[in-house]
Amino acid sequence: MNDIPVYTRSSLLVWSCRLVTLVWGLLGLAMAAMLSVAADLLLSIWWFVSILLMAVATGVAVIALEYRLRCDSCKRRFMFEDLGSKHRQARRRGSLTHWTSSVLDVLLSKSVTCIYCGQTFRVEHAAKA
Ligand SMILES: [Zn+2]
Repeated sequence: MNDIPVYTRSSLLVWSCRLVTLVWGLLGLAMAAMLSVAADLLLSIWWFVSILLMAVATGVAVIALEYRLRCDSCKRRFMFEDLGSKHRQARRRGSLTHWTSSVLDVLLSKSVTCIYCGQTFRVEHAAKA
């Protein structure tokens, strides 16, 4: 594992992935608020809209962070998945998208593989971003 280079902006990458899970959590909460039949209808709509706005705001922050992340090797923005072809080394977890797989890789296995050049990096949160 030590021959795998450490990604230079690991901290930024980890924080953007943590915010992604926050967005997922907020979206789940918004769905729960919308589906809440026990609560007053107007109150659940208010919660739904408020939580959804928080999710959108956090999503915008994620996009701003991920825009700053470039692959150390090929310099492409590897956290932005385009519709074009990906490198054959690019990791995918099951039927999830490359981007979703990258987010989970950063958080769960502390590594990330560039979807464009296939270079794998270790993610060390203590490293300076
Ligand atoms: Zn790359």
